[in-house]
Amino acid sequence: MNKNKVYIETYGCQMNLADTEVIMGILNNNGYELTKEIESSDVVFLNTCSVRDNAEQRIHGRLGTIGVLKQNNPNLVIGILGCMAERLRNDLIEKEKVVDLIVGHDEYRKIPELIDIAFSGEKGIGVKLSRTETYEDIEPYREEGLSAWISVVRGCDKFCTYCVVPFTRGRERSSKIESIVDEVQRLSERGFREVTLLGQNVNSYSDGENDFADLLVACAKVDKNLRIRFTTSHPQDLSDKLLYVIAEYPNLCNYIHLPVQSGSDRVLEKMNRTYSIEHYLGIIERARKIIPGVTFSTDIISGFPTETEEEHKMTLDVMSKVRYDGAFMFKYSPREGTRAYKMEDDIPEEVKSRRLTEIIDQQQKIAYKINQGLIGTEDIVLVENFSKKSNQFYSGRTSTNKIVILPVAENVQIGDYVKVKIYKATSATLFGEFLKITDVYKKHKNVNVA
Ligand code: SAM
Ligand code: SF4
Repeated sequence: MNKNKVYIETYGCQMNLADTEVIMGILNNNGYELTKEIESSDVVFLNTCSVRDNAEQRIHGRLGTIGVLKQNNPNLVIGILGCMAERLRNDLIEKEKVVDLIVGHDEYRKIPELIDIAFSGEKGIGVKLSRTETYEDIEPYREEGLSAWISVVRGCDKFCTYCVVPFTRGRERSSKIESIVDEVQRLSERGFREVTLLGQNVNSYSDGENDFADLLVACAKVDKNLRIRFTTSHPQDLSDKLLYVIAEYPNLCNYIHLPVQSGSDRVLEKMNRTYSIEHYLGIIERARKIIPGVTFSTDIISGFPTETEEEHKMTLDVMSKVRYDGAFMFKYSPREGTRAYKMEDDIPEEVKSRRLTEIIDQQQKIAYKINQGLIGTEDIVLVENFSKKSNQFYSGRTSTNKIVILPVAENVQIGDYVKVKIYKATSATLFGEFLKITDVYKKHKNVNVA
């Protein structure tokens, strides 16, 4: 029986995308061929997300469609990987008859063995969580490109009351600094121009000797033309040491994703977020002093249990105080097994939706105003690709994570750093005129590039 071709679809966050590359690395080392064509595959994996209910519903829907492929190919193995595998193992076996294989985050090394079990007609199941697994010895399978992710912290110890992640990804653990720096070095040698260091709470990175600021410095030193980004930061663990390091190294990006979740101290306490709004705003103020031009994005949840109208307005108020450049905004979704699940989900759906709409509208207005204020300024953009809409234009990003569209110029290649002048802006996109290629990447907005 041919067991060679594996097709993987990935859902959810950047960490899942990075996990898929680790899984593909494991499969590649074991002689499997990776395919982008589901119809010709022998194994179909869905790498799943459980953070909100709608993410899981999408997977159930997708399984319905993929299950049909088994009618033509009864030997097809279908597997669920990641968060849903961990959270719903028994349900999946009982209710989703088409599923042959279920593998959680810490058992990916077993996938080749479990595929063999599935081919023999048994269910292949690996859902044990580990306190030590980091996959740091596995070379992720990456296509050539400019941007790569490296998971530097796995799991989460924060236990925010609404969140399934500590249950699906297990306890926090960090990869060794040497393995991360070596990986950054290899990516630089392959021509990558940007690396994003990932963790659910990346600021609590510790390999016993080095903290996250130490790790950033070590990565920044590998190649001054390789940008380093990181996500996600928890407000409790974001140190001034880290802010000074970002300010000092030109290739550490001037952008921090700092989820606030709510503008009310009472709600934050119920969420077990372990900081107050005063503390949060203090970080923003210090970061803006220490890192000129730094931008922020955030995550916000609307309609957490017992959230009052006044508390919702406090969230809008924090947004207007911070003036985020971007935000990921969600309606609260009760997740079984979490502490918040035991609280009554008492905010009616239409109230959650209305509050979310107000949050989204306000964010769009803020981002539009910020971006309008950038018209006439100059910045440095890493040219990442052709624009989705036209190959007459390039699309790139600033250190501050702003998307910039610029015309294709004869001497400019994808992967170049170019200086641009912004002439137009929407809430999501800046439009720039090409000024010159810069061979040394410099940090702050409006710097004059020699
Ligand atoms: N570790 C990150 C942090 O601390 O913010 C993010 C992890 S989570 C995968 C991404 C975002 O999903 C969270 O910041 C939160 O806003 C949102 N989220 C998590 N659980 C949720 C839930 N039960 N309902 C709605 N949104 C949720
Ligand atoms: Fe979930 Fe909170 Fe951990 Fe983020 S910090 S993954 S929201 S428990």
